[in-house]
Amino acid sequence: MYLLTIWLEIHIKLKSINKMFCQCKNEQNFDTLIPNTNICPVCTAQPGALPTLSKEVLEKALLLGKALNCEIKKISRFDRKSYFYPDQPAGYQITQLYQPTNVKGQIVFFLENYSKEKTIHIQDAHMENDTGKMIHDGEQALLDLNRAGTPLVEIVTNPDFTTAEEVTEFLKELQRIVRYNDIADADMEKWQMRVDVNISVRKKESDPLGTRAELKNLNSFGAIRRAIDNEYARQVELCEKGEKFAQQTRWRDDMKWTSYMMRSKEDALDYRYFPEPDLPPLVLGDEIMKRLDGVALEIPHHIIKKMKEEYGFNKEYINGLIWDKDMLDYFLGCVKEWFDPKTSAKWLVGPIAAWMKENIKTVHELPITPKQCKEFLTIVQEGKIGDSQMKIVMDEMLMTGKSAEEIIKEKWFDANEMDALEIEWIIQSVLDGHPDLIEQYKWGKVTVLWFFVGQVMKKTWGKMNPKAVGEMIEKLLR
Ligand code: ZN
Ligand code: MN
Repeated sequence: MYLLTIWLEIHIKLKSINKMFCQCKNEQNFDTLIPNTNICPVCTAQPGALPTLSKEVLEKALLLGKALNCEIKKISRFDRKSYFYPDQPAGYQITQLYQPTNVKGQIVFFLENYSKEKTIHIQDAHMENDTGKMIHDGEQALLDLNRAGTPLVEIVTNPDFTTAEEVTEFLKELQRIVRYNDIADADMEKWQMRVDVNISVRKKESDPLGTRAELKNLNSFGAIRRAIDNEYARQVELCEKGEKFAQQTRWRDDMKWTSYMMRSKEDALDYRYFPEPDLPPLVLGDEIMKRLDGVALEIPHHIIKKMKEEYGFNKEYINGLIWDKDMLDYFLGCVKEWFDPKTSAKWLVGPIAAWMKENIKTVHELPITPKQCKEFLTIVQEGKIGDSQMKIVMDEMLMTGKSAEEIIKEKWFDANEMDALEIEWIIQSVLDGHPDLIEQYKWGKVTVLWFFVGQVMKKTWGKMNPKAVGEMIEKLLR
């Protein structure tokens, strides 16, 4: 058995209006844009053009730092990472290597269907700008600089992961963190979140970390899972072959975690990092720090913990509510107005979510208004009308947009609306038809009651509340 050790480098595209250092728009989806129509002298690195850090980009990056429980440095810097590639017009990337703004954070999240917690430590979450894009088209290579200069935060974790599940659950939590707080959309398919996975194996905990392999730019959870599984198998096989492994021990010494900064230094040499001369040190004043302190972030882990521990939700309810921020807000809105969390979740995760899925609609496109939903929940909580009937009411609401009360009246579900004498007459006629069963009931066979309820329900076309009918029969038989 070999132990698996993983750490991640994650690039997240911030959801700001403008690019990082210029006034060009920061489009979230470049596929719809004509190439090279969203560029200016700054992001195409024309001679003499100078960068100015966008305040909004800074604020989003700080929010992310706060959400990751980072230490936020009042003084930080930008550095140049020099390398030549056609999609990098300046010949360097502006990033933060030596003194990043957000350092030493951590994320706590759930594993194994919310039964276990795990903490992953964050080295730093640094700001940097993105490159343009090369489009390879037959024999020619085309260049699109629309994306050049858009803002990224790169999150570097510690080697705290030991399974692929930990990696994917961590990334899902990270997605929720940025989405809940409007920092980023982090859609992997749209390359708004790119993940580099570093993998190494070793025999015992006390061994230094084995030679690492870096798998770059994986953009789906499935791809990440497969990459980890394959790489683990490949490295274990290499280790098992012994001889080959000996050659790699030298590497292993270099690559054990304590020498991580050395790797950075090697990178630093490769890329000729040096302090960015066009940007002054970033000094955060009291005002911005105070504003940051005042922001109440929505931390998904806290919300999930509350659902689990306070509301007693199962994994279906939790999964059903946390996948979509709008759905979650809808639920939290119900709870805020003192509706029972379990009742609210039951109807939202059940018929309402099913309708959304079937019709490919969002919460905002529901045919029922929040007011109508609350009216519905009020009736449910009063408990006068049974769940099976309320299910019919909900389905009808989703189909027609009518209010619950309207439907209940139409369908005659509200027993109170029925003529009490008429109901009594129906019940009496059922009882009259079965004197033998009444005798059994009186001798203690209470299950007979359910036979009577069933008969009455049949005669009233299932329109009555069985609980209410049962009570009425009990009264009559007393
Ligand atoms: Zn620009
Ligand atoms: Mn990077």
